[in-house]
Amino acid sequence: MSMTLLKGAPAARALQDKLSSRIQACGKEICLAVIRVGDNPDDCSYERSILKKCEQLGIMARTVTLDAACTPKQLKTEVANLNEDVTVHGVIVMRPLPKHLEEVRIEELVSPCKDVDAMHPQNLAAAFLGENGFAPCTAEAVMQLLEHAEVTLKGKHAVVIGRSPVVGRPLAMLLLQRDATVTVCHSKTENLKELCKQADILVCAAGQAKMVDASYIKPGAVVMDVGIHVDAGGQLCGDVDRDAVGEKASLLTPVPGGVGTVTGWILMEHVVRAAEEQA
Ligand code: NDP
Repeated sequence: MSMTLLKGAPAARALQDKLSSRIQACGKEICLAVIRVGDNPDDCSYERSILKKCEQLGIMARTVTLDAACTPKQLKTEVANLNEDVTVHGVIVMRPLPKHLEEVRIEELVSPCKDVDAMHPQNLAAAFLGENGFAPCTAEAVMQLLEHAEVTLKGKHAVVIGRSPVVGRPLAMLLLQRDATVTVCHSKTENLKELCKQADILVCAAGQAKMVDASYIKPGAVVMDVGIHVDAGGQLCGDVDRDAVGEKASLLTPVPGGVGTVTGWILMEHVVRAAEEQA
């Protein structure tokens, strides 16, 4: 059997094209605000990648940078101001926040209609109930890739390894909405391998480098690798050991260049949708 790499770039490009048309049709200047506390290198790098995408699409980006030692009140005030500002359509707060800000419960502060990063409980509930709202970007990115590759989900068995609130759980709900039969696995799951071997679609979001090898794969399965790690040789890799999986899968998302390539564009889709839906 021959395995095809399901790369993220074509799906990302298609999404980008659709967004450009929607932005034009929207007829207003769309603005995303990015709040960053401190200078954590990962946050700075993520912020840069968001700003670049905004620039590519012609979305205005407003950055709010707070001192690492800022008070909970300062952070709350910034978020409240952006919630009130009708020229700002989406707000994203870089997380995790420094320890001393944990009391802020930031996920409940950003107005649900501007919560493009999908952290507000109202948006998570919408994803759970299949209602309109913003679902976590990574979960939506997996769905976008499956749709772009025209993978049949109806009636198929999807196994998701991972039950985190940002990836595994919402993804299980999105797959269920598309009429897949879903099994969610986690670190306490017994017979993990046996369950995975029954999957027509296997989503690997355990956060364990190269954990999944050929012995987890049903021949012909579609394998979506969400994990991102740096291996011993300093190379990026996923939860799937690509070399070990060999030709057993029919489709496999590469790391890098798979799910992660689409995730940032889903965030942009949320920003555009937020602007469309805000009067
Ligand atoms: P978490 O650590 O929050 O969750 C991991 C989940 O996997 C948990 O539910 C855990 O189970 C389960 N798990 C851990 N080890 C095993 C195991 N050996 N067998 C079965 N299940 C296991 O991670 P995230 O969900 O936030 O992220 C998952 C991966 O995806 C990470 O590598 C992360 O870097 C990557 N990621 C990629 C993104 C992208 O855009 N491509 C975006 C976000 C994350 P339990 O609940 O029992 O602890």
